[in-house]
Amino acid sequence: MDETGNTYRPGYVGVAHEFGHARAIDQGVQSYDKGGKTPGTTPPSETHSMANENMVRREHNLPIRPSYYDPPPPTPPNPPPPPPHSPTNP
Ligand SMILES: [Zn+2]
Repeated sequence: MDETGNTYRPGYVGVAHEFGHARAIDQGVQSYDKGGKTPGTTPPSETHSMANENMVRREHNLPIRPSYYDPPPPTPPNPPPPPPHSPTNP
């Protein structure tokens, strides 16, 4: 999910993410720590791939992906209070 809440990811952005892993492996810095899977966070295993993905997103003026684990959905607003009682609304 990008910073606008969009979950669509163009194929070339996905390739950029995976190349981020490939480069991290090639450099010997790829972590396999998936973290606590807390919504809104990025684990060590995804920091390099996310940086590569967001570099390509910026190059194409796409919203960045702020975290690997999607943040929780926004809480819907409370419904409006019921109208006050009146002769026509007892
Ligand atoms: Zn990844």
